[in-house]
Amino acid sequence: MAEQKRDYYEVLGVDKNASADDIKKAYRVLAKKYHPDMNPGDKAAADKFKEASEAYAVLSDTEKRKQYDQFGHAAFDGNGGFGSGGFDFNSADFSDIFGDIFGDIFGGGRTSRGASGSSPMKGSNVRTSVHISFKEAIFGCDKDITMNLKDSCPTCNGTGARPGTLPQTCPKCGGKGQVVYTQQSFFGTVRNVQPCPDCGGTGKIIKEKCPDCGGSGYKTSRKTIRVTIPAGIDNGMSVRIREKGEPGVNGGPRGDLLVEVLVSADPMFVRQDEDIYTTVNISYPVAVLGAPIVIETVDGKVIYDVKPGTKTDTKVRLRGKGAPSLRNSNVRGDQYVNLVVDVPTRLSKEAKDLLRQFDEITGNSLTAAASVSDPDGSDTAGGKKKKNKFFKA
Ligand SMILES: [Zn+2]
Ligand SMILES: [Zn+2]
Repeated sequence: MAEQKRDYYEVLGVDKNASADDIKKAYRVLAKKYHPDMNPGDKAAADKFKEASEAYAVLSDTEKRKQYDQFGHAAFDGNGGFGSGGFDFNSADFSDIFGDIFGDIFGGGRTSRGASGSSPMKGSNVRTSVHISFKEAIFGCDKDITMNLKDSCPTCNGTGARPGTLPQTCPKCGGKGQVVYTQQSFFGTVRNVQPCPDCGGTGKIIKEKCPDCGGSGYKTSRKTIRVTIPAGIDNGMSVRIREKGEPGVNGGPRGDLLVEVLVSADPMFVRQDEDIYTTVNISYPVAVLGAPIVIETVDGKVIYDVKPGTKTDTKVRLRGKGAPSLRNSNVRGDQYVNLVVDVPTRLSKEAKDLLRQFDEITGNSLTAAASVSDPDGSDTAGGKKKKNKFFKA
């Protein structure tokens, strides 16, 4: 329905008076973001891509833009155009537009589709993940990953054809891997390029399949691959292992293996970038008097001298006790230690008596609380009562 369609200018996020250049720029950004090659299997992205492409197809064409400005979507509705109308962008040939703006995005050629017969292509990348501990991430480690990996079938050398036979050039597409249909539309003849249905876009037909791989040209086997994880890696980062992905086609190189590193949380250490954060409880006497304490770092225990009169939530920096920089493992972040003065909830009678003694000697809280509620001594009884109650508890 025409009224459900978003405004083309809105779709591209440009002004009604936007120049052709602005429109192209806006589309370039959206097309790059939502292109199906960049978002395999993502239906929402595909829809966005289609919507933006449709908007661009109209607004980039002076004539069509004029019609759209005047009549809105109705200009391209069934009523105004041919037959059932609409503009089927699944079937429209956008190659001129892509050729124009995608050159730099896809490295000159859109290798992932319609690859014809003989050009070498790099194999697909393979993704996996590995779990490591907090300290393994700090200091780096080697991990063995066991996974299913495709290899070129040795029996047929990856051709998929029974040894002694060869794949035949597909008669339907003549080895191009693509078939072109033309159809009439409101905008004239539309070329519609699709992968060849007979050969699936490979340009070749295998008459006698290799008995070993069933014609796929691949064999899958379980392999163990050692991954060297660099010191300083952080959760969610990936390690690339070149040419351990899927085999290439027609002599192209293998794809890469991308290993995502998942770092377990540590009960003691919290990391942010290259710095590490910890909390250490200190007792009230240590906070008041100062004393050497033991602090855990990723390198082991260190002794730290707490200064006399340290307040709770004091932050201490231990230089160079953080995570190493990925670029230079000699450079390390710092460890920030939060010193929290511990308030005990369970004390022996002896400890309580000593604390009361301490309080009396220093003339602090307990007596002060009593005198605050009895500022000029006129209500001594009330104050005393309160005090007694407290001591009884
Ligand atoms: Zn084979
Ligand atoms: Zn074909």
